[in-house]
Amino acid sequence: MRGYFWEDLGIDLGTANTLVCVEGRGIVLREPSVVAVDTNTGTVLAVGAEAQRMLGRTPSSISAIRPLRDGVIADYDQTQAMLRHFIGKSSSRRFVFHRVVIGIPSGVTEVERLAVIEACRRAGATRAYVIEEPMAAAIGAGLPVAEPTGSMIVDIGGGTTEVAIISLAGIVNCRSIRIAGDEIDEAIANYIRRAYNLFIGERSAERAKIEIGSAYPLEEEMTYEVRGRDLVTGLPRGVIISSEDLRVAIQEELNAIVETVKLTLETAPPELAADIIQRGIVMAGGGALLRGIDRLISDETGIPVVVAHDPLSCVVIGTGQVMEEVHRNPQLRKVLVQASRD
Ligand code: ADP
Ligand code: MG
Repeated sequence: MRGYFWEDLGIDLGTANTLVCVEGRGIVLREPSVVAVDTNTGTVLAVGAEAQRMLGRTPSSISAIRPLRDGVIADYDQTQAMLRHFIGKSSSRRFVFHRVVIGIPSGVTEVERLAVIEACRRAGATRAYVIEEPMAAAIGAGLPVAEPTGSMIVDIGGGTTEVAIISLAGIVNCRSIRIAGDEIDEAIANYIRRAYNLFIGERSAERAKIEIGSAYPLEEEMTYEVRGRDLVTGLPRGVIISSEDLRVAIQEELNAIVETVKLTLETAPPELAADIIQRGIVMAGGGALLRGIDRLISDETGIPVVVAHDPLSCVVIGTGQVMEEVHRNPQLRKVLVQASRD
């Protein structure tokens, strides 16, 4: 078709962050999955980083929301608006057809999967293919997914933790739980409310987690000041918390993640389990950056654990690689769950 251009995009539509890569240009966009809407008219006012700054700080007529929750689309119209904005922002040309490979959580239903495809198409993609996120993450982390050997990936995102065992370009065994970064933030906020009568927002809780959070005792424990609103006086106040306290606060969430890893291993075919014991577990997603999470999982399973080189980008890198290679390597087509109706 002369005069028409195709542009290939790989998208990681995460509950916390959306990343986009473009063939030949690498990762071009990395923004929080947040939309700000005018509650009176329903108009979208801002998307991504700009909308993120409004979270928890908006007057009553504006609400900054995250259209994806627990790994699935919670608000369809806003997800579509967000995708349209991100696809437009990533595109280098004005008049092009977009071919999109997009990651979806492995646990989603058929309806949820079709909703993602439809949202891409309505957001301007001419063709949309979906890939299961653990598969994309494993490819992006450099695991040999197509070989007859077991690889294990643990992806801790904002809304879900996904654990998968992959062999011969297929997901052999996987589990997904709706406990990940957001739940950890919530546990921190609850703890601070209970222990100090201090109410803090989800962003402050997340900041505390990033600054001093840990899953395993630190060589040097740390302290950090969190600020919020005193529940008794109603006035702003700060308290100093320690990394030990935070570890106790998030114990349940950490246990749930460890249990999921163990259960996935226990139900794996023995040959693949043997491969994983030898080759180790690879971690991806922003949650893999929590201090000592690799050590905790390694201690609990007795298997070596490594965090991928750039855990926040594994899924989008994986979608990009599939996009580039799928034309040349038909075997890779197997990893794309379903091509949309053309
Ligand atoms: P999603 O795929 O759901 O969009 P991401 O893989 O982008 O999620 O990870 C986002 C999660 O990672 C958030 O919950 C965020 O708080 C967490 N995160 C990011 N950086 C760190 C860090 N340094 N330590 C702990 N958690 C982190
Ligand atoms: Mg993710």
